[in-house]
Amino acid sequence: MTAAATTSALDVLHDVFGYEEFRGQQAAIVDRLITGGDAVVLMPTGGGKSLCYQIPSLVRNGTGVVISPLIALMADQVAALDNLGVSAAYLNSTLDLDEAQEVERRLLDGELDLLYLAPERLVLPRTMQLLERADISLFAIDEAHCVSQWGHDFRSDYLGLGVLAERFPTVPRIALTATATPATHAELTERLHLQSAEHFVASFDRPNITYRIEPKASARSQLLTFITTEHPGDSGIVYCLSRRSVEQLAEALVARGIPALPYHAGLPAEVRAEHQARFLREDGIVMVATIAFGMGIDKPDVRFVAHLDLPRSVEGYYQETGRAGRDGLPADAWMVYGLGDVVSQRRLIESGEGDQAHKRRVMSHLDSMLALCETVDCRRVQLLRYFDEDSAPCGNCDTCLTPPATWDATVAVQKLLSTVIRLDRERGQRFGSGQVIDVLRGNDNDRSRASNHDQLSVWGVGAELSETEWKAVIRQSLARGLLESHGDYGVLVLGPAADPVLRGEAEVSMRIDPVRRSGGGRSAS
Ligand code: ADP
Ligand code: ZN
Repeated sequence: MTAAATTSALDVLHDVFGYEEFRGQQAAIVDRLITGGDAVVLMPTGGGKSLCYQIPSLVRNGTGVVISPLIALMADQVAALDNLGVSAAYLNSTLDLDEAQEVERRLLDGELDLLYLAPERLVLPRTMQLLERADISLFAIDEAHCVSQWGHDFRSDYLGLGVLAERFPTVPRIALTATATPATHAELTERLHLQSAEHFVASFDRPNITYRIEPKASARSQLLTFITTEHPGDSGIVYCLSRRSVEQLAEALVARGIPALPYHAGLPAEVRAEHQARFLREDGIVMVATIAFGMGIDKPDVRFVAHLDLPRSVEGYYQETGRAGRDGLPADAWMVYGLGDVVSQRRLIESGEGDQAHKRRVMSHLDSMLALCETVDCRRVQLLRYFDEDSAPCGNCDTCLTPPATWDATVAVQKLLSTVIRLDRERGQRFGSGQVIDVLRGNDNDRSRASNHDQLSVWGVGAELSETEWKAVIRQSLARGLLESHGDYGVLVLGPAADPVLRGEAEVSMRIDPVRRSGGGRSAS
């Protein structure tokens, strides 16, 4: 059975898809499904996940049912399959009653090789009954990380997909995702009832992507310089946190002659669909978007992904940057980040939904992201380690290409932490970074005078560093747990790592931020 199945799978690969050979683990995955087994597939974007279920659907009798949250892409996917002569259809809320009934008829008459379904549709009793009357060859659950309640793409409808195991015990199932930490991997296996699945975990490395993370000085002008000098005329995606900044930035880019389009969940559906279609079809469009944009977008020649705001987790960062360079040609993952990002992200988490345990978990995701930003080692090594993968320094990230200079910041950090303690103990007051820097530098201004800060014993003890340099020290201290920031004003308090440094038992080495060509930053040496 296995040998015969593999042969006909190869025939389908050649005759239908026009490819010479299987890539990576595709052949093993395809074989697993054809012989009736379940599979969990972790493969990076562009790795070739679709063929893993499309080919078994064609080789096995019956219809392969593909569950995907990406309704907007279903029509395109079906059209592409139609072009190859594969009989495919989709059922979702965009079809009218007649169209849906025609698809149901084709399904029941055994005319379909593949049927795409949204999860919210699948879990309806009516759909379940329909599927039970049809001949199903397999279930493919795409974007399977959406079942993870702690992930950034959680969809409650995915929780219902576990029932497929009980309702269709003889139908093989495959779950696929391009983002899964070991924890997410375990969680999706359990929730989707894939305990007897074989697991296929590909390397998550995307060697053609150059990772770069720079200190934020003036984000917008840094982005303009980056695009105009390194990516003129290229397609790219720029991620921002808020809808407002998306719209303002898109306008600013257009004003500078860069063909940019905004995309966020607050725009009307027609506008979103049009902007997405233009991005896919036309060359050189820069999509300025919130994270609402991008999942499932298959545009091979995205040459850069830029982040102007800090992503909430390494998983999110990996997934978003993974949309660059799917064609395997060089691409940039470029990001600017600064002290303000750390403070505002922590504030968002504190004021957000969820209980304390949830917030702690989200906070630890952020901490991992910060560690990636501040690392003096290879970014890729750190990124892959997050997915439990060991690797050697890559030679294709900023820290490998231009190793960051470091300095002994122990004394500076001791001064900083002492100032935070004095303000708290002597005055019973907690302050944000601006006022702490005023005290350290002895900045004689209205704000300081109003609080008599010039009478503190630590007044002016840190005059040797500039404002920018202190911001860099505070930013890195937050990233390492030496400090924490809380509340709406980002007040600074000591973090869990502070004690040994204050007692002189631990040294702190920090990155020297590179000198900026513009935007007012200075090096901290
Ligand atoms: P993913 O869903 O994992 O991001 P896709 O399934 O969209 O990746 O595949 C990425 C690209 O690679 C597509 O253009 C696809 O046609 C191509 N591809 C996949 N498998 C093969 C193969 N065995 N040989 C050649 N090209 C392939
Ligand atoms: Zn590297």
